[in-house]
Amino acid sequence: MTQKIEFDKTFKYKILVIDDEKRIRDVTHRMLTNEGFEVALAETGDIGMKMIDEKHYDIILLDLMMPGISGLDLLPHLKAHHPYTVVIVITGYATLEHSIEAMKKGAFDFISKPFSPQDLRMVIAKAIKFIRTLQDIADEKSRMRVLINQLSDGVMATDIQKKIALVNPAFLKMLDCFGQEISGQSVSDIIQNKKIENMIDKVLSMPTEKFSILNEELDIGDNILSVRCIPFRDRLNRNLGTITVTHDITALKKMDQLKSDFVSMVAHEIRSPLNSVGMQLQVILDELAGDVTEKQREILNRASKKIKTLGNLSTELLDLAKIESGLISQEKETFDIKKFLQEQVAFFKEAAQAKDIHLELDELPEIPPLFANKSNMEEVFSNLISNSINYTPKGGKITIFAAKNKGYLHIMVSDTGLGIPKEDLERIFDRFYRVKNDKTRYITGTGLGLPIVKSIIEAHNGKIKVESELDKGSAFNIYLPYL
Ligand code: ADP
Repeated sequence: MTQKIEFDKTFKYKILVIDDEKRIRDVTHRMLTNEGFEVALAETGDIGMKMIDEKHYDIILLDLMMPGISGLDLLPHLKAHHPYTVVIVITGYATLEHSIEAMKKGAFDFISKPFSPQDLRMVIAKAIKFIRTLQDIADEKSRMRVLINQLSDGVMATDIQKKIALVNPAFLKMLDCFGQEISGQSVSDIIQNKKIENMIDKVLSMPTEKFSILNEELDIGDNILSVRCIPFRDRLNRNLGTITVTHDITALKKMDQLKSDFVSMVAHEIRSPLNSVGMQLQVILDELAGDVTEKQREILNRASKKIKTLGNLSTELLDLAKIESGLISQEKETFDIKKFLQEQVAFFKEAAQAKDIHLELDELPEIPPLFANKSNMEEVFSNLISNSINYTPKGGKITIFAAKNKGYLHIMVSDTGLGIPKEDLERIFDRFYRVKNDKTRYITGTGLGLPIVKSIIEAHNGKIKVESELDKGSAFNIYLPYL
């Protein structure tokens, strides 16, 4: 039983039959017209060639043996000038070599004479499937190209030899290069940016079991770009090339700078009058301006406490602005971490004792010296230890521990205090974020301590992690890399 073949009827495909044998032309014409195709006929190669050059045909049924221009002569012309036309050659029994030659010259398939209607249907159905696949690939390619060309972010794809496979106008503009025929050229010839090339090199040498995205910021003239580079891989995870995406963050950076400058300016301007108000209050409290009643003292003490809090806020805002604008002091020194922590503990002993809190430095193993900015580190530990004192009720315990851990120095400040609710844990490093509940209500603070700690640690290429359980306590873990 012959299988019924359903043709794809999305388009009315145009088929041209070029054959000098009238019977073949008639049979194919009748059959293909009945199937809904638009069919044209040519009785010689010369007529066929003229027709092809005037109008596009999706499929050509081409007789190889014809007087005048033969099918074999027509094939190179078709391949060169009509690459989207699928050619099926019609051959006689004894011309197998010709069929092979025709395939080599670009024919898609062949059908031998005499053929049945079913043979013809099958070969036409196959050709249509091929056309559809080609069409799908072409559609996908053009959709992708339009999409990538319209992106405001820059995109560049390279192959494994660092030759550019695709690049959009945004990328070329951001890197200040304008090219005409860029596809196929080497990245080093067109982009001429050592940092990007290094990123591409690193990505290409990434082993198959590793997949990571490289991120960098680049200064290009007056602009700042955020650049991401990732490997592009096949199904077996082999590197096929790289994809680099650039995003212009100049405006963001400028805004950030403006904001930091503004905050610094305001904090700075507030600090001196605050200091002077504080000092004047102290003069009154010390009774240098006359007697002070108990009631007045109480009010002045409260006012002086508020002034101190405001003073702290402006100092912390200034610190943060300094760190965020990259002005964090880069002067690093080598120092003994054990001695440093002992000093910190000694400094906070009194404040802890005032709350009946036991503050201790654990027995420490041998630790190599650390290379870091010492005053930054003092700021980190003074924030963490004073937080622990603030958020630990009377009678609690604070322990500090340090050890070498996989190339990092791990320092932990843990307490048996209030703990931090799970839903707040993510946010305590955000600026001004403070946990609000009945227990923390009367503890004053700015919500800037932990953001400062985090910025300093990150500026030292380290990490900070916190573990906490409500009503049990918290542990702040710092990891600083050794050089
Ligand atoms: P501040 O202490 O000035 O409010 P921080 O940025 O230092 O600001 O801390 C943010 C918040 O994190 C605090 O308000 C507090 O709720 C919580 N927190 C910080 N350290 C601890 C700790 N050791 N125990 C419990 N909660 C803490």
